[in-house]
Amino acid sequence: MAILEVKNLHVAIEDKQILKGVNLTIKSGEIHAIMGPNGTGKSTLSQAIMGHPSYTVTEGEVLLDGENVLEMEVDERARAGLFLAMQYPSEITGVTNAQFMRAAINARRAEDDKMSVMDFIKKLDEHMATLDMPEEMAERYLNEGFSGGEKKRNEILQLMMIEPTFALLDEIDSGLDIDALKVVSKGINQMLSGEFGVLIITHYQRLLNYIEPTFVHIMMDGKIVKSGDASLAKRLEAEGYRGIRDELGLDI
Ligand code: ADP
Ligand code: MG
Ligand code: MG
Repeated sequence: MAILEVKNLHVAIEDKQILKGVNLTIKSGEIHAIMGPNGTGKSTLSQAIMGHPSYTVTEGEVLLDGENVLEMEVDERARAGLFLAMQYPSEITGVTNAQFMRAAINARRAEDDKMSVMDFIKKLDEHMATLDMPEEMAERYLNEGFSGGEKKRNEILQLMMIEPTFALLDEIDSGLDIDALKVVSKGINQMLSGEFGVLIITHYQRLLNYIEPTFVHIMMDGKIVKSGDASLAKRLEAEGYRGIRDELGLDI
């Protein structure tokens, strides 16, 4: 079992304190969902865990199997088994999608254990079929000219190919039509064996109709203010954030 622990995490952007003490423990095999209004720090949490340079950790810890993630370079974090699917995936010219994925897979493997081209292609074909992706997408430059929906699908393809220990999926459902949403959910569900844990950041309960979370957390004003099981997301859908604010007596 692997474990990702976020302890009392405080994060600032420039001089503005965004996260104000986030605590979260994710074990492999678990699906955690973080929901919360716009601007509460959800993306900040995932960016800080992955080591984006604009986000300064001012207090607290992030541990992966007891190792201090915050001391690792970004590429070390990826090699250690973390994967971030970004809200706005970036384009990388000159590197094809397939080249990127093969490099990412092999970066996590020892010299004598690199994945062969044959095995890579077999796995790629399999996963692209699952995700209903046209073959040519593997040979296109990374994210260049991909539509919003294609980028999201591609993130899930990368996830399935790279097989990280933990994935942070930030609004992987935004801008997806219902068919794409189902395909993306199918990919994530297929990943969920005992060796994989995921943090899903979403505004909407919609995605959680297809991916049943083990835990749901509500973030407001830089903190997790309430945690529960999948029913919490349904309650949120019914009552909106107002219901939670009233219950907790929050004036935010
Ligand atoms: P969420 O993902 O919950 O919508 P974010 O983590 O993206 O929230 O943003 C949290 C807060 O940080 C917001 O108030 C946002 O305006 C602010 N913020 C985000 N990025 C920057 C930035 N580059 N510079 C200054 N403030 C930022
Ligand atoms: Mg946002
Ligand atoms: Mg966000």
